[in-house]
Amino acid sequence: MRIKARYRRLAIEIADEETRPLRCYEVDDALESYVDAELSGEDARTLYPRVWAHLQTCARCHETYEQMLANPEEDEE
Ligand SMILES: [Zn+2]
Repeated sequence: MRIKARYRRLAIEIADEETRPLRCYEVDDALESYVDAELSGEDARTLYPRVWAHLQTCARCHETYEQMLANPEEDEE
């Protein structure tokens, strides 16, 4: 059974009301969607609040995020 990557990414936001902070590898996974949303003019902070929260506290992921914003990948599915 195959699950589309996009659904998996969303699942980390939806899956739990719990306040467990995301881990870096989970943010890595979701960051592309997050940046995508931001570049499309959507409210990424509202769509991915936990990713946003992680970015506030993790310099490493924040740097990755800024690089992705500056150099969005061109490959689109
Ligand atoms: Zn991180």
